[in-house]
Amino acid sequence: MSRRNSAGPRPCAIVWMRRAFRVDDNAPLWHAVQEAAKIIPLLVVNDDPRYAADTNRRRFVRGAIADLDAGLRMHGSHVHVRVGPAPRELARAAAAYGADTVYAARVYHPSGIARDAAVARELARTGRRLILVNDLVLREPSEVRTQQDQPFRMFTPFQRRWQELADDVPRPLPGVQTLLRVPCAEGSTTVDRIPYFAGTREGLGEPAAALQLRRFLQKDIAHYHLRRDYPAAEGTSHLSQHLALGTLSPRQVYWSAYTRVQRDEAGMRTGPGVFIMELLWREFYYQILASFPHAQDHAFRKEFRDIRWHRSPRAFARWKDGRTGYPIVDAAMRQLNTEGWMHNRARMIVASFLTKDLLLHWRWGERYFMDHLVDADIASNNGGWQWAAGTGTDASPWFRIFNPVVQGKTYDPDGAYVRRYLPELRHVPDRFVHEPWRMTRAEQKAAGCILDREYPQRIVDHAKARAAALLFYSSSRRHAHATKSNHFAAAPEGQGSYR
Ligand SMILES: Cc1cc2nc3c(=O)[nH]c(=O)nc-3n(C[C@H](O)[C@H](O)[C@H](O)COP(=O)(O)OP(=O)(O)OC[C@H]3O[C@@H](n4cnc5c(N)ncnc54)[C@H](O)[C@@H]3O)c2cc1C
Repeated sequence: MSRRNSAGPRPCAIVWMRRAFRVDDNAPLWHAVQEAAKIIPLLVVNDDPRYAADTNRRRFVRGAIADLDAGLRMHGSHVHVRVGPAPRELARAAAAYGADTVYAARVYHPSGIARDAAVARELARTGRRLILVNDLVLREPSEVRTQQDQPFRMFTPFQRRWQELADDVPRPLPGVQTLLRVPCAEGSTTVDRIPYFAGTREGLGEPAAALQLRRFLQKDIAHYHLRRDYPAAEGTSHLSQHLALGTLSPRQVYWSAYTRVQRDEAGMRTGPGVFIMELLWREFYYQILASFPHAQDHAFRKEFRDIRWHRSPRAFARWKDGRTGYPIVDAAMRQLNTEGWMHNRARMIVASFLTKDLLLHWRWGERYFMDHLVDADIASNNGGWQWAAGTGTDASPWFRIFNPVVQGKTYDPDGAYVRRYLPELRHVPDRFVHEPWRMTRAEQKAAGCILDREYPQRIVDHAKARAAALLFYSSSRRHAHATKSNHFAAAPEGQGSYR
């Protein structure tokens, strides 16, 4: 019920701007506007120097915030910024502005939930409230349950249940009108006064998201089901960064695709239908983290919790830098390092390679992705890594191991993707482009690509690494604590050892 017309002072609310860096269809902002006349869109940042880093991800975050500020200014308001820990700063801001309520988007990962509990406690000390609303997902994890009222552990039954509920997904919210301009209170400032925002480029956030969605709907969604698996094809939406940071709402994306599914007889088998299915993976991984909080830090499946992963910083460095000698893995890692984004098929390949060919901990890869992806998202990233490592929910059991050569030949048949990111392979003939070690010295010379000079020898022999991984995983399951073998150390030179 709106309190705007009630007698007495017009209430003030803070909207804690996090993972919802947009004005349109912003649920916390919309709910706040229904209740209060004075709205303070508040950003809480810390003074960690990493925020200033010149990485793809940091540039995108700063750009999205600059766009949010510009968008709010068009509605008469602006972003208010505070620097420090969230519980303390939100409580101080609420006191300084005279706000009795703080609105924010609900998060689902255990560390975020714990932080929000601390915020709520701090606000409650002065009789104020934190109100969390659903903005990150289409449906709250608690709304999609098994018949026994349990959370789903497998994607297929989850998506079946979801499809029964598909017509009732909340619609995008109406836009907000003019907001009252409120000057910064003591301890708050504006975005342009935060030193590391200097020189931030606008146009990366909400406006770019709307444009990207329009482009995808006009051009690529119709062929999505045919092209989405080919990294060179650019056949996917590239909306992940906008969904992850909230420069676009999941409701906007869902309904723009779902109305096409409703119109087409082929329904979910069309490009838009298959696209919706991918959005459901995102929903699924949020429900996994919300329902099984141990998955944030540990293997989802109990039997893999005590796995003794190998620890080779040298092998990890070669994986990170795209120098494993497997072109599809290396191209993908260089795409990540240069653009801050990687195609989904490529993510599955590099994750399988790290965990199954190199037997390195999925958490090393997960962390690296979180630091470098513009679309870094705790739930999808954790779910994707555990899926690939075979420690997660379903579909990719531990014994299914991606062969990087077969994957390359199937999904990048002419090597266009590999050559885009590995110019040293530009003149390598198609038949060798996914296995350059098969070239003779003369063929290497002719292609201008001498192994171990222009391009590395492969770090492991996949066939041997695969056999070792099967042994490693099965013995890890049997004797969770007893696995001490290190097949790389034991393998003869050139047959599985790191080079
Ligand atoms: C190891 C690994 C790590 C990953 N880390 C992330 C991450 O940090 N952030 C992230 O958003 N996605 C992650 N994904 C999922 C997926 O790779 C990306 O969402 C997708 O590549 C983004 O490109 P797009 O927007 O063009 O996707 P599209 O194919 O256009 O899909 C549309 C949307 O659906 C969602 N989606 C698609 N595939 C998946 C999936 N497998 N799991 C969850 N959501 C999905 C995304 O929000 C995406 O934007 C990861 C996958 C793997 C295998």
